[in-house]
Amino acid sequence: MSESSGATMLEPHTPVHLSSTPHVITRGQGVTVWDADGREYLDGVAGLWCVTLGYSEPRLVEAATRQLERLPFYGSFNHRTNDVALALAEDIAEIAPIPMGRTFFANSGSEANDSAMKFAWYYHQALGRRQRRKILSHRCGYHGTTTAAASATGLSHIHAGFGAPLPGFVRVHCPDPLSPVARDLGPERFVDWLVQELEELIAEEGPETIAAFIGEPILGAGGLIIPPEGYYQRVQEVLARHDILFIADEVITGFGRTGSMFGTTEFGLRPDLVTVAKGLSSAYLPISAVLVGERVCAALAEGSREFRTFGHGFTYSGHPVAAAVARETIAILRERDIPGRVRAAGTVLANALDKFRGADGIRDVRSYGLLGAVEVDPARFGVGTGQVGPAVLEAAAAEGLLLRAMGDTLVLAPPLVSSDDELERMVDRLATAYDRFRRGRPGAAE
Ligand code: PMP
Repeated sequence: MSESSGATMLEPHTPVHLSSTPHVITRGQGVTVWDADGREYLDGVAGLWCVTLGYSEPRLVEAATRQLERLPFYGSFNHRTNDVALALAEDIAEIAPIPMGRTFFANSGSEANDSAMKFAWYYHQALGRRQRRKILSHRCGYHGTTTAAASATGLSHIHAGFGAPLPGFVRVHCPDPLSPVARDLGPERFVDWLVQELEELIAEEGPETIAAFIGEPILGAGGLIIPPEGYYQRVQEVLARHDILFIADEVITGFGRTGSMFGTTEFGLRPDLVTVAKGLSSAYLPISAVLVGERVCAALAEGSREFRTFGHGFTYSGHPVAAAVARETIAILRERDIPGRVRAAGTVLANALDKFRGADGIRDVRSYGLLGAVEVDPARFGVGTGQVGPAVLEAAAAEGLLLRAMGDTLVLAPPLVSSDDELERMVDRLATAYDRFRRGRPGAAE
């Protein structure tokens, strides 16, 4: 096999003109990964917030192998499916955070979100409300990069060059407690302000034109934004009054990350649809799902009677090998009470991150469960927005830590099986990296 420079692969989320010498990871064990040069890293972001059970869980490997040997594929179209997909839907029904109708399977978070939005359209069509097409979402929300998911995503770097978003995607303010409005108003009045903005927007657009609101319980790629207390409850009251469906995008928060199996439970939400991916299979194989609530599912059934078809689904919906891995993942999460472990580990992470509080150039430190963020103020270093994050990432990699930067917010989303010691070492390495970056800037305090 020849050494590859990467010049033949179009890398996702990587500027094409920069994408010929990627950093190549070749091996993983526990929460550690190694690159092609043999360098070792603690993986502070679990791949892409997804390898929840770490890199060497033998039960997941065995589940995949057993299923590959027994039945590597059977699809799920036209009322023929495989036994594993059905069993996984049963497993999900047992732990679902909403009154369940049924579960639909897809392969990625984006596909799950596109599916959920299409189900919202189908729901309203089935009820004879054909005008209800618009989708509401946050300006800092991230829902993926397929056509509808990219349109619901509010981040401009996902839209640029693609002419996105499509028409009919309408955005509301981020529930960001650090935003200037939030700072002016204080947390309670900020929630009032957000709710009023939503009410006004719905009135302006016309409630009879709006199908659904999609939101993340904790907004991940938008900068790890933890909405103020009570925010989503108030949003849901407004949506319910206007018959607008609520889709909880739990692609990051699903399967233990917040300290509950689902963010929906953790934050007391009542979504009509819940989308999950990543942690559903600990990312060992691609699989995602839409948990379709009772009420929506009943309307889908009515609709398909009327339309005589339900023209949605993917070749790999309910892929048996991915489903077998997902079943084993759920079994492990339950047997080992991983959400409970996350609650304890969340305290360790929060305490470790405390060392950043009040430090030079730090704008905010926040965490929830095993999600943690350190937000740096680029103005302190005389650089533009978005320039500190990548520099600290590079310094962190040199210290043996992989993490993500959302602008100038450094994000940790480690595997849920990280030990206390591993979590502390991750934060220590981040602190060393930040210090190295800081000392390298002109005028930095020693
Ligand atoms: N929703 C959220 C909240 C996500 O964080 C992501 C991916 N990071 C997605 C959707 C899209 O998932 P995928 O990349 O699997 O399409």
